[in-house]
Amino acid sequence: MNILLLGANGQLGRSFLEHGGLAERGILSAATRDGSRFDGKPAEVADLSQADALHDLLDRLQPRVIVNAAAYTAVDRAESEEALATRINGDAVGELGTWAAVHDALVIHYSTDYVFNGNADIPYPTDAPTAPIGAYGRSKLAGELALQRSGAKHLLLRTAWVYAPHGHNFLRTMLRLAAEREEIRIVADQHGSPTDTTLIVRATLAALDKWLDADPMQRDQMNGTHHLVASGSTTWHGFADAIMREATAHGLLARMPRLIPITTAEFPTPARRPAWSVLDNTGFQRQFGYSLPDWRQGLNHIIKALVPKTC
Ligand code: NDP
Repeated sequence: MNILLLGANGQLGRSFLEHGGLAERGILSAATRDGSRFDGKPAEVADLSQADALHDLLDRLQPRVIVNAAAYTAVDRAESEEALATRINGDAVGELGTWAAVHDALVIHYSTDYVFNGNADIPYPTDAPTAPIGAYGRSKLAGELALQRSGAKHLLLRTAWVYAPHGHNFLRTMLRLAAEREEIRIVADQHGSPTDTTLIVRATLAALDKWLDADPMQRDQMNGTHHLVASGSTTWHGFADAIMREATAHGLLARMPRLIPITTAEFPTPARRPAWSVLDNTGFQRQFGYSLPDWRQGLNHIIKALVPKTC
């Protein structure tokens, strides 16, 4: 079975490669935007802004499973580059779907809590009405709709507040700021579920295994949108506090900085963010028989992974 991983240099893509589970399940081709890979190993070129080249790559590799971890994720920049964000997060996803529908391939694709407006106060079910409040969310919603319309078999996995030991993320920003400052001001009125990439990789592989074992009727039930986030929720301030406590306990930080809770209004950004990003993940757990633990468990795991190994 040929498997194609797109976006292999991103937080999630890199975690897939480091985990190794895709390569255990088939002949894996990893693709990046420019053909260079974080570990210096060779990679295919897949720039999602180039429709023809993407189509040629799919024709050449003939994947049975396409894992799309590539995305335009610059939430603030998307406000001034919406056409490019929509090309990568919307049109390209539709093209993957169209190819997959014709060739009977499965598309595993990731979407976001930003497809919702954040006005809720209970976890969003998968079928809650979407209403993005920014360009990034609109571009990701365009991808969801294009994939659904393509007729391809798909697992559309919405996740949120993603972090890893590598890449650009809140946890790494907090650790850097903590080493530089005595006091950090953090937004305390946005709610979500911090989700580490190890959890996303393991849960995706569990879902893929179920898919591969399933008969056509079971596949029809699995086909569609699922919420793949850690359980429980917090605010950015709560997440920062937990990061500092874990990092101090494991010797990554010498001292805790003071964390000052602030409102979203006190931290203006080009893109508006949803105030409520908590997704109901019970359907994923039931459908795939895979338990999604509390977000603090993932944090503990990632902090331990960041502690330098002593011989
Ligand atoms: P990253 O930003 O870490 O990685 C995205 C990857 O996509 C990068 O490697 C980037 O390439 C690549 N990429 C960007 N543009 C193109 C392009 N034109 N062609 C090919 N590749 C491109 O994202 P994550 O790993 O965090 O996100 C994984 C998925 O999860 C995405 O679908 C994202 O929308 C979703 N998600 C992420 C959240 C988060 O908090 N990060 C929250 C909710 C959902 P390069 O390395 O060259 O820049």
